[in-house]
Amino acid sequence: MSGSILGTTKILGVMGFPVSHSLSPVMHNAAIAALGLDYVYVPFPIPIENLPAAIAGLKAIQSVQGFNLTIPHKVEVIPLLDEVTPIAQSIGAVNTVKRLGDQWVGTNTDVAGFLEPLKKLDCDWKNMPAMILGCGGAAKAVVAACLELGCPIIHVFGRDPKKTKKFHGTMTSQLRDYNLRVHPWTSIHHLLEVTGIIINATPIGMSSDFNTPVTEDEMTLLPDHAIVYDLIYTPRPTRFLQIAAARGLKAIDGLEMLINQGAIALEFWLEQPVPIEIMRQALLQHLHL
Ligand code: NAP
Repeated sequence: MSGSILGTTKILGVMGFPVSHSLSPVMHNAAIAALGLDYVYVPFPIPIENLPAAIAGLKAIQSVQGFNLTIPHKVEVIPLLDEVTPIAQSIGAVNTVKRLGDQWVGTNTDVAGFLEPLKKLDCDWKNMPAMILGCGGAAKAVVAACLELGCPIIHVFGRDPKKTKKFHGTMTSQLRDYNLRVHPWTSIHHLLEVTGIIINATPIGMSSDFNTPVTEDEMTLLPDHAIVYDLIYTPRPTRFLQIAAARGLKAIDGLEMLINQGAIALEFWLEQPVPIEIMRQALLQHLHL
């Protein structure tokens, strides 16, 4: 928000349930204020059964220009939209929606957000097999990102065989021509020695949970060139990343993904460059980092 709410103020927001934990209002309102725009970004707590009514209702409110979606709406929103971009279609998840006339257009900025800190690295991705821990919503975006990087094979680990099988079926029908294998959670240690990048896409290690998805002993199996990426950003760093850094491995947390998916979404809505450094600083300050 850049100042007073006026009769002309345009609305952006984030739909989720719960949504009170979302940091998106912090970074988007900081960017809107810096740009001096007549916009405001607000949280929309929407229970899953109310999603169709909310999508239709917001369309009727002309000042609503777009919104983000977080858990549990990223997949369920798809049939409620008028158009979905190829990247969002390919992973079956939408996190950003924009008004174009009387149409809702959905896209996904999580893939590009995840990739941003990796783009800065000098890596031969063709020789970097990937391990993804978890097979929920974020893991879908990570699979698409590893494919874009050119990882030769992508191994996904899940604790529920029914869910890993479903994940494999959905992803292989949506993203063709790539090498995706799913494995039981208990077999993680078998592949550590040959992995190039390992990504935690589970909540293990979040907030005051000091657990790790891979034990300290198992982490010694990773090669010296391995990259360890945790999608979690609180605590910063997680125990998983602390162990990786102590071993001298490249360790990346989820904060840059959060900032970059937000900045790309804001650019999509506003169709102008956005002040990403201001978004970063607003988040760091909010998180006391
Ligand atoms: P999700 O859809 O709920 O998926 C979570 C996955 O983790 C599921 O496969 C779940 O398995 C698995 N899991 C949970 N607890 C586990 C445990 N103790 N052992 C093994 N597997 C476990 O959540 P999500 O949206 O994918 O998010 C995953 C993580 O990424 C969260 O920590 C989230 O905060 C983070 N994230 C960060 C960003 C960012 O911008 N940095 C963006 C998106 C997500 P079951 O299905 O069997 O429970």
